[in-house]
This record gives sequence, C-alpha cells and structure tokens, in this order.
Amino acid sequence: MLAAGSIYGRSVTNEAIKKIVIHEIAHQWFYGIVSNDPYTYAWLDEGIAQIATSLFRMLNENELGYIDFSDKMEQLPSNLPLHEYLNSTQSNYIYGQSHSNLAKIFNQHGGKQTAEDFLSRYFTLYKYKELDTDEFVRFMKFYLELRDDSLFESWLELGNAKNE
Ligand SMILES: [Zn+2]
Repeated sequence: MLAAGSIYGRSVTNEAIKKIVIHEIAHQWFYGIVSNDPYTYAWLDEGIAQIATSLFRMLNENELGYIDFSDKMEQLPSNLPLHEYLNSTQSNYIYGQSHSNLAKIFNQHGGKQTAEDFLSRYFTLYKYKELDTDEFVRFMKFYLELRDDSLFESWLELGNAKNE
C-alpha cells in the first residue's frame, strides 16, 4: 500500500483517505441533521458515521466488519465527556468501541440490511433534532425489540444524570 499523503503528521494510504472522506461526508447526516452534543455524546455521531462508512464500503458481505477493542484497553464507557478520557486513547472509545459494539448488535440482528433499515428510520425520526445516549438506546431497543439493556451496559453509561 502506498502512502498517499499525511494526516496529523502520519503518512496514510489511499484507502485510509477514502475512509476518512466517507466518514466526514456521513457527518452531514449524522451530526449535521441528526444532532447530538459533541462534547458529552461524541460517540453517537462518530459511532454512527463509522457504521455508515462501513455500510457504504461493503460489497457482498452481509455482516459488518469491526475491530474488537475490548481486550486492548482499560474498560471505559464510550459516552464519557471528552475531558474524562486521555487524549491518546479517547478515539478508541468514541470511534472504535462504539462502532464495534454497534456493528456486533447489527450483526446479531440481521447484519447489513438491518443496519441500513435502522439508519433510515433513525434519520427520519430524529432529523433536525438533538438526541443523547439514553434516547438512542431507547430507540435501538424499540427498533430491534430488545428486552433489556444488556447489549449496552458493558460500553455505555446509561442514565443521563451521571453525565450532566
Ligand atoms: Zn467523525
């Protein structure tokens, strides 16, 4: 793989640049139109932009790919306010852990098609609105007919009061 340029002083491949461009375009929908507080709930627009990026790049696969971060770092929730993370690791939680857990949940409930349908309903329902972690989890539980919070408890802090 050839380095095509550099970002933040590190050389990156053409593929990495493509992913970044797709991710940033996805923010026009997920942050630009469906909004969230980017200081406390950065995981929401970043995790969803990463899911949209994965979906856009998929060919014939039915399952979303992801990197499992859970054994690579100290366990922290993905939805802490930014100052509660170390700068060096915050993106692992906000981008990596949130994407990988959302991808796992979608894969357990039908994979790509479910993720696409979910994003479509999510966008339609929340466009021009701002949501937080609890509202997102409430909608995802409704949409996927989940009975409890067990798919979220290991990586999200639930209950708004703690973050305010
Ligand atoms: Zn982003």
